[in-house]
Parts: sequence; C-alpha cells; structure tokens
Amino acid sequence: MSTPLIELRDIRKSYGGVDTPKVEVVRGISLAIHPGEFVAIVGASGSGKSTLMNILGCLDRPTSGDYLFAGKDVAQLDSDELAWLRREAFGFVFQGYHLIASGSAQENVEMPAIYAGTPAAERHARASALLDRLGLASRTGNRPHQLSGGQQQRVSIARALMNGGHIILADEPTGALDSQSGAEVMALLDELASQGHVVILITHDREVAARAKRVIEIRDGLVVSDSANEPAAPCTASPGLQAEDLRQRLDQGATHSGAWKGEMLEALQAAWRIMWINRFRTALTLLGIIIGVASVVVMLAVGEGSKRQVMAQMAAFGSNILYLSGSAPTLREPAGVISLDDVAAVSTLPQVKKIMPVIGNELMVRFGNNNQQFYVGGNNTYFPEIFNWPVVEGSFFTEADEQAAAAVAVIGQKVKQKLFGDQLDPIGQYILVENVPFQVVGILQGKGASSGDQDSDERIVVPYSAAAIRLFGSQHPEYVTIAAADSRRVAETEAAIDKLMLKLHHGKRDFELSNDAALIQAEARTQNTLSLMLGSIAAISLLVGGIGVMNIMLMTVRERTREIGIRMATGARQRDILRQFLSEAVLLSMVGGLTGIALALLIGGALLLGDIAVAFSLAAVLGAFACAVVTGVVFGFMPARKAAQLDPVKALTSE
Ligand code: ADP
Ligand code: MG
Repeated sequence: MSTPLIELRDIRKSYGGVDTPKVEVVRGISLAIHPGEFVAIVGASGSGKSTLMNILGCLDRPTSGDYLFAGKDVAQLDSDELAWLRREAFGFVFQGYHLIASGSAQENVEMPAIYAGTPAAERHARASALLDRLGLASRTGNRPHQLSGGQQQRVSIARALMNGGHIILADEPTGALDSQSGAEVMALLDELASQGHVVILITHDREVAARAKRVIEIRDGLVVSDSANEPAAPCTASPGLQAEDLRQRLDQGATHSGAWKGEMLEALQAAWRIMWINRFRTALTLLGIIIGVASVVVMLAVGEGSKRQVMAQMAAFGSNILYLSGSAPTLREPAGVISLDDVAAVSTLPQVKKIMPVIGNELMVRFGNNNQQFYVGGNNTYFPEIFNWPVVEGSFFTEADEQAAAAVAVIGQKVKQKLFGDQLDPIGQYILVENVPFQVVGILQGKGASSGDQDSDERIVVPYSAAAIRLFGSQHPEYVTIAAADSRRVAETEAAIDKLMLKLHHGKRDFELSNDAALIQAEARTQNTLSLMLGSIAAISLLVGGIGVMNIMLMTVRERTREIGIRMATGARQRDILRQFLSEAVLLSMVGGLTGIALALLIGGALLLGDIAVAFSLAAVLGAFACAVVTGVVFGFMPARKAAQLDPVKALTSE
C-alpha cells in the first residue's frame, strides 16, 4: 500500500491551562488518509471537528502527537513550508465562506495563485475558467456582499481549487446554506472527489456525511467509528496524485521566492482600496505627514530665497573688494597694527587698483537740538568709486580736503532725514561730531538696507586725515579697503598682498585679509543654519506624521485580522503579509508626501504673490518626499510585523 497522504498518530489538542481550566478538545486521534479518498468526519457540535480540521490543514499545531504529511513530520516544517502546504496542497472551504470583503469574486479566487507566484495572465485565465465552471461567469466582478450565500461558497470552492486543491478541507460547507444551494455544493464536492481530489468533509449531519465513501465519526475528541476499518471499504488510489509527488514538490519548492511583482501590485491595489474606503480617517491621520512635508519644503524654499536675495544684495557692493586689518589680540600677542606706510606699500602693487584706509566708529552727531548716533568713518576720495556709491547732492570731498584734514562731511540719506528733516538743505550746514564742527558738502545716494544690523544709509563720511586727527586721535587705520584691479583675480590679489605684508611685517602674520566673497559665504552659512533649524522643526512634524501612520496601521491590522487569517489560510507566507502591510504604510505616506508637496507649492505661490522671496529646490522636494517614504517604512514596520506574526487559526477565528 502507498504512503498515506495524511497520517495522524495520537493527536491531542487542549485549550486553556493558564488562568482558565485546561480542556482537552481532541483526545488522541489516529487516522490515515490516502490519495483519492473522500472522507467525511461527522460528529455533534462541539465534538472537536473544526479543531481537528485546523490541525489537518496546518492552520494550527496539535498540543501533542505526530502529524505526518506524505510521510514528513509537520512539526519539523518551518512557517514557509507550512504556508506552502496550505497554498499548494490544501484548499479550504469554510462554513462562513471567509472571502475578503473588499475584493471581487475574481480577486478572491486569484489570491492563492498570487502567493504561488503564478503569472498574471495565467492567473486571470484560470480564475475566470474556475468561476465559469462553477456557474459564476457573470459574477466575477461582484464583491462578496453582492453575492448570495451559495454563490459565495462556490467562490470559495473556486479559490480552493485555484492552485490545484489536491486536498479539499471543507468545514460544514453547507452549514449556512439553504437546502438547494447546499445540494449544489455537495454535488460539486462529489464531482471533485470523483476527479481525484482528496475531499475531507466535516459535518454534523449524518445525511450529508453519507455522500462520502468513508465516514469517520468523532465524539468528545475521540474517533468512535471509521468505516475504513470495515473490511468492505474500498481504497482506490487515484491515478493522478501520489503522496510522493507532493512530498517531492514540498522539498523542492516550499522556499521559492514567489513573484514579488505580482504580489506587490496586488498589495498596492488592496492598500489603495482600503485607503479609499476609509478616506476620511486616512486623510485626518495623514495630516501630520502632509504638514511635515509641506513645512520642510516651504521653509527650505523661503530660506533659499532669502539667501539668494542677500547674495544678490551683497553682489551690488562689488565683488572685487578686499579687506586688510590687524589681527585681533591673543593672550601672547598684542593686536596687529596696519600702518599708513603699509597702505602706501600695498597701493604700489600692480594687482591693486584703489586702496582706502578706514577709521570709524559710532559717534554722537548733533545738529541744532537734534542729537543722534551715527557711524562716522574716515575714508579717502576713492570711497564713491570703491563702493559704487555716488553723491547725489553737493560733491564728495577732494584730495585737497584730504591733504588739509578739512572738517568736511558727506552724509547718508538717513542722516539727512534724521538730522535735517525734509525742509532744510543740509549742504553748507555745520554738524557737530563729538563737538567738532564739520561742514556738510555732499549727500550720498540711498543704498537701501544692507544685511545685518547696520543700515548703510546711516553713515557719515569724512576725510581720513580729519577723522584721524580730529575724531579718533590715531593715525592707524582700523582696516583697509582694497579694490582689486581684476574682479576675477581676487584670490591672486589677496595672495600678492599677503606676501608683501608678510615681508613688511618681517614674517609676522599679525594681519588678516578677507574679501566680500568670503563675507557672502559667511552670510550663506548663517542662512544655512537657519534653514537647518527650520528643517528640524519640520522634521518633528514628520515624526508626528509617522506616529499617525503607525496608529492607522495598527488600527488596520486589528480591523483586518480575519482578512490576514484568510490570506494565511490561502497560503500567504509571513513575509507576504509583512510586505503587504508595509506597502500599505509606504503607499499611505507617499500619498501624504505628495499631498504635502502640492500644499507646499500652493503656499509658495501665495508667498511669491506676497512678495516674499521663495526658491524651491528639487533636492528639498525629493528629500522631503523620501523622508515621508522612510517614515512610512519605519513606522509601518512594527504593525506589519505584528500582522505577519499572527497565528493563522487565531486570526481566522477572530471577530
Ligand atoms: P466542532 O467544530 O466539532 O463544533 P470545535 O472543534 O469548534 O467543535 O470545538 C470543540 C471544543 O473546543 C468546543 O467545546 C469549544 O468550546 C472548544 N474550543 C474551540 N476553540 C477553542 C479555543 N480557541 N479556546 C478554547 N476552547 C476552544
Ligand atoms: Mg465546527
């Protein structure tokens, strides 16, 4: 005689034990089922039939005893191999149909084939053919709630047959059906048995059981009679299926990776459907991600916009300007000093076009009763040229004023406004700078606010010599402004000045050189810090969004525990379930991310209309989107793993 397909040896199953009394529901069942058999297991309600079937179908493990499938000990199989058995060897038909409510008849039937990695075209064709054969050709697009009980049961039979259905396990398949539909389902099972499928039919109804060739009766978890033990019982092995075949295929194929593309597509479709069904809840939960992504993108865009604005402003001051100053004092060295001799020497360098020593400070300035503090700087006659800053009224002081240390002043627009108001013409008037009278000879063009705290129009320019002698009592310039001859050779000029200065100072680097480009860079760095800070605020809202995703996924997993059970019963491996829920989480956060980006563009547009500089960068948009996706993966993982690790039978029987 051939190896039995299924062999149970003293199988026992008990429930409870920790806080509830321990009940043994299956109390030592031994039986063997061979290929080609049509077996009915009959018994009163509560006698342990369903428990036994769950063990037979590898949905549940026995508490003790051995289960050999095609001679192989099932206790030794890992979860992937058990999933293979459920997918390839068994086909389940339940009393409550157990169809996935959100899928059509066609999709429900196709599910086992998706997990088996069957190509889409083949899958569609086979499912259509099966539904056609079961008389449901016109109902393929219907969802379960649009089908009658009998039709739903036929869909579940089609699903059981999808991957071959070598062993059909039917638990009270007619229990919920009217007699007509019940008879149809029984006729179908009869037909399948005659075609060589092993059919194990579980029922409490002796009349139904009588359709089977072999009837096993159980009572209180024990076999009380088995017609196979009667000498007359026939046992014809089917020509098609041999236990060895299945066993070989199990050994080879259980670990195959499946067609992840098909599964992914199916998972995404299912995810989309679930999201759509719960769209209001989904939208609310996604607000965190939407706001997070939108704020990242908008904040970075505003940061970048103002950075560009600052750079453009600074470029207006000219980019060929270098600054030379004495180095700041250290513990060991006093402050470096630049002398006017140094200035004279540097001015002879061919790379230097103009040179201007500067000495200045905030000083009290008085006109009449009007006392104000302004920046007063001693500069030379190159000032308008170096800073590209002309005089609009009167004239700049002259070389002769410089030679004579004349007490003359050129004032900025704000100084004019604040000291003289609109009425009086300042030209020719005397102002007191720290009680030294200076005559106003010219007014500078308005420059507009520069960056930082200093307003460039609140400025008074006097001859260097006058400032040094009359105001500051020092000949040494505070710093020296140098215009390079060629704005493309600023670095070269800087090197030449550096070399000369080192020589003049006998190799001592007690001076510092910088240029506008460096200042712009420094400015850009401040702006970057600002962007970073704003970005981290946005990151926090992304985190909140991630927690939202986790929350919604945990809720989904709980609500769909039964669906997870159905998927496992039709052969989904743990990693299939993990992948499905993970792709749901990722899809969810991708939708959130895209919405956030759209929102950011809208806000950006509004800001632009409000005259605020905004510069969207592709990197920021992509980065924020990637953050959203990563959030989905990170926060979706825990719920997805929770779903994947559910116990099949517990998931299936959950409410
Ligand atoms: P049948 O399908 O023959 O009606 P079951 O196998 O469903 O019977 O249940 C047999 C017995 O096991 C019942 O008394 C039931 O209360 C008990 N039982 C089934 N599942 C569980 C469970 N998960 N926890 C505790 N008891 C259970
Ligand atoms: Mg039952």
